[in-house]
Amino acid sequence: MTRLVEKTIKPDYLIILYYKYVAIDQPETLAETQKALCSSLNLKGRIIISSEGINGTLEGSVQDVEQYCKKITEDVRFADMQFKRSVGIGNAFPKLSVKARKEIVSAHLGGEDVNPAELTATHLSPDQLQSWFEQGKEFAIVDMRNDYEQEVGHFKGSIMSGMKNFRDLPETAKKIDNLKDKPVLTVCTGGVRCEKASGYLLKKGFKNVYQLDGGIVSYMEKYPGKNFLGSLYVFDGRVTVHFDSSENHTVVGKCALCGDSSERYIDCRIDSCHYQFICCTNCSDEEGKAFCERCIAKGEKNTSSNISRQVA
Ligand SMILES: [Zn+2]
Ligand SMILES: [Zn+2]
Repeated sequence: MTRLVEKTIKPDYLIILYYKYVAIDQPETLAETQKALCSSLNLKGRIIISSEGINGTLEGSVQDVEQYCKKITEDVRFADMQFKRSVGIGNAFPKLSVKARKEIVSAHLGGEDVNPAELTATHLSPDQLQSWFEQGKEFAIVDMRNDYEQEVGHFKGSIMSGMKNFRDLPETAKKIDNLKDKPVLTVCTGGVRCEKASGYLLKKGFKNVYQLDGGIVSYMEKYPGKNFLGSLYVFDGRVTVHFDSSENHTVVGKCALCGDSSERYIDCRIDSCHYQFICCTNCSDEEGKAFCERCIAKGEKNTSSNISRQVA
């Protein structure tokens, strides 16, 4: 599936992001009722339900999405659920997928599983974080997202875990072992991974752990262009978002092939590879396609649009 889709903002559409760690007795049953509810409201997106909670992102018309929020919060388990709302594009998701899984965020911590309903770090609001920055407080930000998400945007001075996958969390914890007695703030897109990651750090003996409430998206929305540099990678057809004006926007992403500034993600043109990477328009062909670095190393060659333009 290509991630290059029309990104035109459509104000009649709404995208929501939400999660809640709460005990769910029969995840499969809830998945069925959620699927029926979303279908009846013509919503598309992804919901994962497990015995530890629910994690979802959906798009639909403003009216349908608001109706969904109203309906789901009628369930006492989700009464205090927070929804992160943003303007939709009409085609953020190709379909609806509602699944019951073992965990809502796969951490595979084995014998050291963390249940955030029981153990998680103190939430730090975007306002509190902003005042930490303004006061010049000494603290470390640990980015709990994957490497390809961090490449296009991250907090100034943050420690980038460089994880390939959230399952690398134990490795990340080992790498930052020197911060056990210092204030540590974990960050991720919307907060769902930090609930687990920060709980895990507490379990590992970190004494002063916080998590960013509502995730990076909530901070960026309130403080656009401040301290978070670049754009936020999102798991829908928008691919990246930022809230500052185009003139003030800093691009930190770099083309994987030539190193030029870019925020343009494409999928490797080899179907079986499909590696997602940042690629500037000069390094792809006139159709916007290119081979990734790994496939180039195996002998594939890109014809850049520059070259084809010169030939033409
Ligand atoms: Zn390039
Ligand atoms: Zn490839």
